[in-house]
Amino acid sequence: MGVNRRDFLKITGLGTLAGVGGKAAADLVFKGQAEAQEAKPREEALVGKRWAMVVDTKKCMEKIKKDGCKDCSIACHAVHNVPDFGNPKDEIKWIWQDTFEHICPNQHHPFTSENLEGAPFLALCNHCDNPPCVRVCPTKATFQREDGIVLMDFHRCIGCRFCMAGCPYGSRSFNWRDPRPFVQNAREDFPTRMRGVVEKCNFCAERLAEGKPPACVEACTVKALIFGDLEDPESEVRKVLHEHYSIRRKPELGTMPQIYYLV
Ligand code: SF4
Repeated sequence: MGVNRRDFLKITGLGTLAGVGGKAAADLVFKGQAEAQEAKPREEALVGKRWAMVVDTKKCMEKIKKDGCKDCSIACHAVHNVPDFGNPKDEIKWIWQDTFEHICPNQHHPFTSENLEGAPFLALCNHCDNPPCVRVCPTKATFQREDGIVLMDFHRCIGCRFCMAGCPYGSRSFNWRDPRPFVQNAREDFPTRMRGVVEKCNFCAERLAEGKPPACVEACTVKALIFGDLEDPESEVRKVLHEHYSIRRKPELGTMPQIYYLV
Protein backbone atom coordinates (compact mmCIF):
# COMPACT_ATOMS: atom_id res chain seq x y z
CA MET A 1 0.00 0.00 0.00
CA GLY A 2 1.39 3.41 -0.93
CA VAL A 3 1.74 6.05 1.75
CA ASN A 4 1.67 9.63 0.57
CA ARG A 5 3.69 12.44 2.14
CA ARG A 6 0.79 13.83 4.15
CA ASP A 7 0.04 10.40 5.65
CA PHE A 8 3.71 9.81 6.34
CA LEU A 9 3.93 13.06 8.30
CA LYS A 10 0.83 12.18 10.27
CA ILE A 11 2.00 8.66 11.04
CA THR A 12 5.55 9.41 12.02
CA GLY A 13 5.35 12.95 13.34
CA LEU A 14 8.77 13.32 11.80
CA GLY A 15 7.84 16.12 9.47
CA THR A 16 10.44 18.38 10.99
CA LEU A 17 13.22 15.98 10.15
CA ALA A 18 12.34 15.19 6.54
CA GLY A 19 14.81 16.29 3.91
CA VAL A 20 16.95 18.55 6.06
CA GLY A 21 20.02 19.94 4.35
CA GLY A 22 22.81 21.92 6.01
CA LYS A 23 23.27 23.58 9.36
CA ALA A 24 20.96 26.50 8.58
CA ALA A 25 18.28 23.97 7.74
CA ALA A 26 18.66 22.43 11.15
CA ASP A 27 18.54 25.89 12.69
CA LEU A 28 15.36 26.72 10.83
CA VAL A 29 13.75 23.47 11.92
CA PHE A 30 14.83 24.20 15.45
CA LYS A 31 13.30 27.66 15.23
CA GLY A 32 10.03 25.95 14.39
CA GLN A 33 9.88 24.43 17.86
CA ALA A 34 8.22 26.28 20.68
CA GLU A 35 11.25 26.04 22.95
CA ALA A 36 13.39 27.74 20.32
CA GLN A 37 11.36 30.90 20.80
CA GLU A 38 13.10 31.27 24.12
CA ALA A 39 16.51 30.07 22.93
CA LYS A 40 19.35 32.50 23.59
CA PRO A 41 20.50 34.18 20.36
CA ARG A 42 24.12 33.77 19.29
CA GLU A 43 26.41 36.59 20.30
CA GLU A 44 26.85 37.95 16.79
CA ALA A 45 23.13 37.79 15.96
CA LEU A 46 21.18 40.91 15.02
CA VAL A 47 18.42 41.09 17.58
CA GLY A 48 15.32 43.25 17.28
CA LYS A 49 11.94 43.60 18.90
CA ARG A 50 10.01 44.38 15.71
CA TRP A 51 11.82 43.98 12.43
CA ALA A 52 10.51 46.02 9.51
CA MET A 53 11.62 47.22 6.10
CA VAL A 54 11.29 50.53 4.30
CA VAL A 55 11.40 50.71 0.50
CA ASP A 56 12.49 54.06 -0.89
CA THR A 57 10.45 53.74 -4.08
CA LYS A 58 12.00 56.75 -5.82
CA LYS A 59 15.53 55.40 -5.51
CA CYS A 60 14.35 51.92 -6.46
CA MET A 61 12.37 53.06 -9.51
CA GLU A 62 15.20 55.22 -10.80
CA LYS A 63 17.61 52.31 -10.66
CA ILE A 64 15.17 49.91 -12.33
CA LYS A 65 14.41 52.42 -15.07
CA LYS A 66 18.12 53.07 -15.58
CA ASP A 67 19.41 49.52 -15.95
CA GLY A 68 16.56 47.08 -15.27
CA CYS A 69 18.01 46.37 -11.83
CA LYS A 70 17.08 43.07 -10.18
CA ASP A 71 19.94 42.98 -7.72
CA CYS A 72 17.72 42.37 -4.68
CA SER A 73 15.78 39.44 -6.11
CA ILE A 74 18.90 37.86 -7.64
CA ALA A 75 20.67 38.00 -4.26
CA CYS A 76 17.65 36.78 -2.31
CA HIS A 77 16.87 33.92 -4.64
CA ALA A 78 20.51 32.83 -4.74
CA VAL A 79 20.97 32.59 -0.97
CA HIS A 80 17.62 30.84 -0.47
CA ASN A 81 17.88 28.26 -3.26
CA VAL A 82 14.80 29.64 -5.00
CA PRO A 83 14.17 27.63 -8.18
CA ASP A 84 13.79 29.25 -11.59
CA PHE A 85 11.32 27.23 -13.64
CA GLY A 86 11.59 29.64 -16.55
CA ASN A 87 7.86 30.25 -16.86
CA PRO A 88 5.46 32.52 -14.98
CA LYS A 89 2.96 29.73 -14.29
CA ASP A 90 5.31 27.90 -11.93
CA GLU A 91 7.17 30.98 -10.71
CA ILE A 92 8.50 30.94 -7.15
CA LYS A 93 9.15 34.42 -5.85
CA TRP A 94 10.38 35.80 -2.55
CA ILE A 95 10.91 39.41 -3.66
CA TRP A 96 9.65 40.63 -7.00
CA GLN A 97 8.63 43.65 -9.08
CA ASP A 98 5.17 44.63 -10.22
CA THR A 99 3.48 47.93 -11.02
CA PHE A 100 2.36 50.44 -8.40
CA GLU A 101 -1.32 49.91 -9.28
CA HIS A 102 -1.02 46.13 -8.81
CA ILE A 103 0.92 46.36 -5.57
CA CYS A 104 -1.20 49.14 -4.04
CA PRO A 105 -4.53 48.90 -5.89
CA ASN A 106 -6.49 50.87 -3.32
CA GLN A 107 -4.08 53.77 -3.40
CA HIS A 108 -4.29 54.14 -7.15
CA HIS A 109 -6.85 56.48 -8.75
CA PRO A 110 -7.42 58.04 -12.19
CA PHE A 111 -5.27 61.03 -11.31
CA THR A 112 -2.32 59.18 -9.79
CA SER A 113 0.98 60.98 -10.34
CA GLU A 114 2.59 59.97 -13.59
CA ASN A 115 5.71 59.14 -11.58
CA LEU A 116 3.79 56.30 -9.97
CA GLU A 117 1.47 55.22 -12.79
CA GLY A 118 2.92 52.00 -14.20
CA ALA A 119 6.05 52.44 -12.11
CA PRO A 120 7.91 49.34 -10.93
CA PHE A 121 7.30 48.53 -7.26
CA LEU A 122 8.96 45.90 -5.11
CA ALA A 123 6.88 43.36 -3.22
CA LEU A 124 7.72 40.71 -0.65
CA CYS A 125 6.09 39.15 2.41
CA ASN A 126 4.93 41.96 4.69
CA HIS A 127 5.66 40.07 7.90
CA CYS A 128 2.29 41.35 9.05
CA ASP A 129 1.65 42.09 12.71
CA ASN A 130 -1.68 40.33 12.34
CA PRO A 131 -0.89 37.63 9.76
CA PRO A 132 -3.90 35.69 8.42
CA CYS A 133 -1.56 33.08 6.91
CA VAL A 134 -0.47 32.03 10.40
CA ARG A 135 -4.03 31.76 11.68
CA VAL A 136 -5.18 29.46 8.89
CA CYS A 137 -2.21 27.06 8.80
CA PRO A 138 -3.48 23.74 10.18
CA THR A 139 -0.04 22.31 11.01
CA LYS A 140 1.69 25.45 12.36
CA ALA A 141 4.15 25.16 9.50
CA THR A 142 3.96 28.92 9.32
CA PHE A 143 4.39 30.81 12.54
CA GLN A 144 5.43 34.21 13.86
CA ARG A 145 8.43 34.88 16.05
CA GLU A 146 8.35 37.39 18.85
CA ASP A 147 10.38 39.81 16.73
CA GLY A 148 7.57 39.80 14.14
CA ILE A 149 9.19 37.63 11.47
CA VAL A 150 6.72 35.22 9.87
CA LEU A 151 8.58 32.00 9.11
CA MET A 152 7.95 28.72 7.35
CA ASP A 153 9.01 25.37 8.70
CA PHE A 154 9.13 23.74 5.28
CA HIS A 155 9.13 20.27 6.77
CA ARG A 156 5.77 20.71 8.45
CA CYS A 157 4.05 22.07 5.32
CA ILE A 158 1.47 19.62 3.98
CA GLY A 159 0.75 21.68 0.86
CA CYS A 160 -2.87 22.54 1.70
CA ARG A 161 -2.27 26.13 0.50
CA PHE A 162 -4.62 27.63 3.10
CA CYS A 163 -1.87 30.18 3.79
CA MET A 164 -1.86 31.22 0.14
CA ALA A 165 -5.61 31.74 0.25
CA GLY A 166 -5.23 33.64 3.53
CA CYS A 167 -2.50 36.00 2.32
CA PRO A 168 -4.05 39.00 0.58
CA TYR A 169 -0.73 40.02 -0.97
CA GLY A 170 0.24 37.02 -3.10
CA SER A 171 3.39 36.75 -1.04
CA ARG A 172 3.51 32.96 -1.07
CA SER A 173 4.46 30.56 -3.83
CA PHE A 174 3.71 26.87 -4.20
CA ASN A 175 6.05 24.26 -5.61
CA TRP A 176 3.81 22.49 -8.10
CA ARG A 177 6.87 20.63 -9.38
CA ASP A 178 10.05 19.31 -7.79
CA PRO A 179 12.11 22.52 -7.48
CA ARG A 180 15.50 20.92 -6.89
CA PRO A 181 16.52 20.42 -10.54
CA PHE A 182 15.70 24.10 -11.14
CA VAL A 183 17.94 25.56 -8.44
CA GLN A 184 21.14 26.89 -9.94
CA ASN A 185 24.29 26.43 -7.87
CA ALA A 186 22.37 25.18 -4.84
CA ARG A 187 23.84 26.22 -1.51
CA GLU A 188 24.31 23.69 1.23
CA ASP A 189 23.72 26.16 4.05
CA PHE A 190 20.04 26.63 3.23
CA PRO A 191 17.45 23.90 2.67
CA THR A 192 16.02 23.15 -0.73
CA ARG A 193 12.32 22.40 -0.85
CA MET A 194 10.29 19.65 -2.39
CA ARG A 195 7.17 19.42 -4.52
CA GLY A 196 4.01 20.35 -2.60
CA VAL A 197 5.64 22.89 -0.27
CA VAL A 198 4.83 26.61 0.09
CA GLU A 199 7.61 29.17 0.44
CA LYS A 200 8.12 32.91 0.86
CA CYS A 201 10.48 35.62 2.15
CA ASN A 202 11.81 34.96 5.64
CA PHE A 203 13.41 38.39 6.25
CA CYS A 204 16.69 36.45 6.08
CA ALA A 205 16.23 35.05 9.58
CA GLU A 206 19.22 32.77 8.99
CA ARG A 207 21.44 35.74 8.11
CA LEU A 208 20.23 37.85 11.05
CA ALA A 209 21.28 34.95 13.27
CA GLU A 210 24.80 35.35 11.88
CA GLY A 211 24.84 39.13 12.33
CA LYS A 212 24.20 39.90 8.65
CA PRO A 213 21.49 42.12 7.15
CA PRO A 214 18.97 40.66 4.70
CA ALA A 215 20.56 39.71 1.38
CA CYS A 216 18.33 42.11 -0.58
CA VAL A 217 19.37 45.03 1.63
CA GLU A 218 23.03 44.17 1.23
CA ALA A 219 22.70 43.82 -2.55
CA CYS A 220 20.93 47.14 -3.13
CA THR A 221 23.63 49.52 -4.36
CA VAL A 222 21.42 52.63 -4.12
CA LYS A 223 20.33 51.91 -0.54
CA ALA A 224 16.65 51.85 -1.46
CA LEU A 225 15.99 49.13 1.12
CA ILE A 226 16.28 49.96 4.81
CA PHE A 227 15.88 47.26 7.42
CA GLY A 228 15.75 47.65 11.15
CA ASP A 229 13.98 47.47 14.47
CA LEU A 230 10.89 49.67 14.70
CA GLU A 231 11.00 49.44 18.48
CA ASP A 232 14.40 51.09 18.53
CA PRO A 233 13.89 54.88 18.39
CA GLU A 234 17.47 55.30 17.14
CA SER A 235 17.07 52.90 14.24
CA GLU A 236 17.24 54.15 10.66
CA VAL A 237 13.80 52.73 9.85
CA ARG A 238 12.27 54.81 12.64
CA LYS A 239 14.08 57.95 11.55
CA VAL A 240 13.16 57.53 7.89
CA LEU A 241 9.51 56.85 8.69
CA HIS A 242 9.44 59.84 10.99
CA GLU A 243 10.81 62.15 8.30
CA HIS A 244 8.94 60.92 5.22
CA TYR A 245 5.40 60.07 4.22
CA SER A 246 4.96 56.33 3.75
CA ILE A 247 2.24 53.90 2.71
CA ARG A 248 1.60 50.21 3.30
CA ARG A 249 -0.17 47.64 1.13
CA LYS A 250 -3.91 47.27 1.72
CA PRO A 251 -3.86 48.74 5.23
CA GLU A 252 -7.67 48.60 5.36
CA LEU A 253 -7.48 44.81 5.84
CA GLY A 254 -6.09 45.14 9.33
CA THR A 255 -3.13 42.81 8.72
CA MET A 256 -0.71 45.59 9.71
CA PRO A 257 2.02 45.01 7.12
CA GLN A 258 5.57 45.82 8.16
CA ILE A 259 6.89 46.80 4.75
CA TYR A 260 6.66 50.57 4.37
CA TYR A 261 6.93 52.41 1.05
CA LEU A 262 8.21 55.97 0.81
CA VAL A 263 6.30 57.59 -2.07
FE1 SF4 B 1 1.40 36.19 5.82
FE2 SF4 B 1 0.98 37.35 3.43
FE3 SF4 B 1 1.27 38.90 5.64
FE4 SF4 B 1 3.40 37.55 4.63
S1 SF4 B 1 2.23 39.21 3.61
S2 SF4 B 1 2.77 37.66 6.82
S3 SF4 B 1 2.42 35.69 3.86
S4 SF4 B 1 -0.40 37.45 5.23
